[in-house]
Amino acid sequence: MTITFEDFAISANLKKAIKDIGFEAPSPIQEKVIPVILDSNDLIGQAQTGTGKTAAFGIPTIEKVSSKSKSVQALILTPTRELAIQVAAELQRLSKFNKVQTLPVYGGQSIGHQIKALKRGVQIVVGTPGRILDHIERKTLKLDQLKMLVLDEADEMLDMGFVEDIEKILQKANPERQTLLFSATMPPAIRKLSNKYMTEPKQVTIAKGDVSAPSIEQVYYKVLDKNKQDSLCRVIDSEDINLGIIFCRTKKGVAELTEALQARGYQADGLHGDLTQSQRDQVMRKFRKSAIEFLIATDVAARGIDVNDVSHVINYDIPQDPESYVHRIGRTGRAGREGIAMTLVTPREMKHLRSIESEIKKKVPSRNLPSIEEVVE
Ligand code: ADP
Ligand code: MG
Repeated sequence: MTITFEDFAISANLKKAIKDIGFEAPSPIQEKVIPVILDSNDLIGQAQTGTGKTAAFGIPTIEKVSSKSKSVQALILTPTRELAIQVAAELQRLSKFNKVQTLPVYGGQSIGHQIKALKRGVQIVVGTPGRILDHIERKTLKLDQLKMLVLDEADEMLDMGFVEDIEKILQKANPERQTLLFSATMPPAIRKLSNKYMTEPKQVTIAKGDVSAPSIEQVYYKVLDKNKQDSLCRVIDSEDINLGIIFCRTKKGVAELTEALQARGYQADGLHGDLTQSQRDQVMRKFRKSAIEFLIATDVAARGIDVNDVSHVINYDIPQDPESYVHRIGRTGRAGREGIAMTLVTPREMKHLRSIESEIKKKVPSRNLPSIEEVVE
């Protein structure tokens, strides 16, 4: 029998919001974890990006907090500001028919503004570890009434060096709380964290090969360093691209490629860690509403970003570690849509492609660079 959202023990208002958003049926991870969380268990949820993990913890979180109390009852930690904003927005959509308030709290935004908003009282806070810890130390955020603590994209938070901040937050949170951890991958550091801070967690894993996993076609092109930009242009000119994310290894690489593509007349903008928060927000807004066609980014800048309708992910520089490849290509093929991931590989980088293939247990087929005639037509 197939499970529907009607089958969950959640309020009518929450069901109405889910319907209103347009979610027809729970995704596999949602189907498995929502009842486990509603039953008050600690939980480790592992599934690829784009499989609906936000609503998987968001729905039971909204169900469990009480709008009658003004104290913070749920805390969600995310690796980046962009993701904090995005997760908060999804929770706000889910709680539009009840009185639960969600506040995003992240570095780069005025702390005074956040302090005021926290004082007014919210039930759910979504934020990055550094800024959350800052509020805890200033006593502008109290976690003594916390019912639920969620570590979202835990592997990325650890990669970004947040482990100490996260441990401090876990130690300060109400010990009676329920702890949930979501991650696309399960490196040993995550096991360690969960052994230390979670109580008999139930584990739910949605296998990579699951039919509902995003369908992403993967190909690579052999290119030479000296004409990599030309090769990229030939590839993108011959493709029918809706929105594309192009990954570079360094901030400098992002800045250079952005300038080069803009000079050639492409609608492109760059996203990297040296931009101010308002510059980053502006780039993301333009990309989301398709005012630019290409987002050029480093791994860090693109973490967790969920933009629907990204048709192409292009690795201009191949990632050096396979996990980063998996995260990058997860930016397309969101929510079961089709997507394609293309990787430019120089002879020197062939070894990285081989280690990626052994990690994903799949051979990535090569494609010939389109000839000039095919591009010009
Ligand atoms: P993850 O955290 O696993 O990477 P997200 O929670 O960001 O994935 O979800 C990816 C996209 O799928 C979002 O745009 C989200 O709104 C959409 N989505 C989530 N659950 C469902 C569902 N049950 N049906 C349809 N779309 C969904
Ligand atoms: Mg997510």
